[in-house]
Amino acid sequence: MVSFRLPGEKLAVKHRIAIAGFMHESNTFSLVPADRAAFAAQSLLFGDFLVDEWRDAHHEVGGFLEAADVEGFDPVPIVMAWATPSGPVTDDVFEEVTACIIDGLRSSRPDGLLLALHGAMVADSHPHADAEVLARLRAVLGPDFPVVVTLDLHGNISPRLVERCHAAVAYRTYPHVDQRECGRRAARLLVRMLRGEIRPCQALAKPPLIVNIMCQETSRHPMRSFLERARALEQRPGVLAASVLPGFAYADVPQMGPSIVIVTDGDAELARREANHLADELWQARDQLAVHLPEAPAAVRQALQSDRLPVVLVDCGDNVGGGSAGDGTVILGELLCQGASNSVVCLFAPSEVRECAQVGVDREVRLVVGGKVDRQHGDPIAITGRVRLVHDGTYIEREPRHGGRRVNHMGPTALVEMENGNLLVLTSQRHPPFSLGQLTCLGIQPQQKRILVVKAAIAYKAAYGPIAGTIIEVDTPGLTAVDPNRFSYRLIRRPMFPIDH
Ligand SMILES: [Zn+2]
Repeated sequence: MVSFRLPGEKLAVKHRIAIAGFMHESNTFSLVPADRAAFAAQSLLFGDFLVDEWRDAHHEVGGFLEAADVEGFDPVPIVMAWATPSGPVTDDVFEEVTACIIDGLRSSRPDGLLLALHGAMVADSHPHADAEVLARLRAVLGPDFPVVVTLDLHGNISPRLVERCHAAVAYRTYPHVDQRECGRRAARLLVRMLRGEIRPCQALAKPPLIVNIMCQETSRHPMRSFLERARALEQRPGVLAASVLPGFAYADVPQMGPSIVIVTDGDAELARREANHLADELWQARDQLAVHLPEAPAAVRQALQSDRLPVVLVDCGDNVGGGSAGDGTVILGELLCQGASNSVVCLFAPSEVRECAQVGVDREVRLVVGGKVDRQHGDPIAITGRVRLVHDGTYIEREPRHGGRRVNHMGPTALVEMENGNLLVLTSQRHPPFSLGQLTCLGIQPQQKRILVVKAAIAYKAAYGPIAGTIIEVDTPGLTAVDPNRFSYRLIRRPMFPIDH
């Protein structure tokens, strides 16, 4: 804390608040590790370098930095580590980033910490890696060091996490378009705490069910009503924050499943009672959480018959933002088989990008694309096309979009045109469809296309919803298949609805 006095003013106190982010959504069914290269390709930024990339982002870290100006504290940026969802985080990265946060706090001795976690991070040796980060912090800094945490709405959290921070607040939207505001809210809580205005305490409740990812969209019933109840709760005296996290089902860990977190001003009983109450209501709504979608052959037929364009085909089983492979070919195969035209499919295909670069623009290529990361997402497909463009794969998104990224890195990228104007976007990084910038930076006008395939569940909607003529959600196989019964869980709590019912 720095005390200073301006001429004619009373003594002012300016707090110093550390800012750090360590975020990963880990799909434990994936064999693709989140290793150091995966973080370095996206965000592994230390100190002031993180400020340059994240200050203007619609992300909680951008919100933390904005709050420094609004609330009048000195930010102490430590690290921002973020990798595309995939299999678990390797131990070396986990140890490096966690040690970096602790060393940064030790050396800068701030008054408190704003920490952006995801809540569904698994490391090789730590099934609840987010809680492990906090446990390590507490072991060094003691139980009283002020820490406020932000969480993704897909966090799978346990008491171990909630007991080790003063307050945890989650996003309120899916697609996540309120991330920056979430950061500002967290910062406001920490500042009020440091000023002695509030004494946050919190409670967690976890009903034993899976909220199907297709039922998690916050503008639709039933999630919408739960979020509205949480907002109403926050109007009650003594309630500081109410978060509803539907959770992330593609993780075989004991804490998998929804979480209700209520933060109150020193009233543990109120927090516990309201958390249990909302958890009960979620449990009562469990029968509204079933999903039935068409498989790829029927979905593509429907798409070809639709005259409300563009048609967005949602490849739910290969949801890159849920840690899937990103090179699934099930829908691409159907499109080619059924004679589609004027479509766009994006695939993770690093070696094919190199082939395209070697062959050169406007030259013909014969490639075997997709189905290479694992055996879960369809077979590789042989295609012939013409290389239209090779691009560095970096683009800027200025609007609030799921994930909150402003600077996006899909790695070196090739655009290949096949017969009938069907386009393949081949990327060197697994890249989720959160921004139309992925297409527009290559000169593609998505509104002019007949069919757009997105490898996602709900998150794509912030970008694609406004331009979609028709949306068809497709039950494709893969590491993010919509039916949880397709997965063999060993470590989750049992019984768990709907698997055991
Ligand atoms: Zn999320």
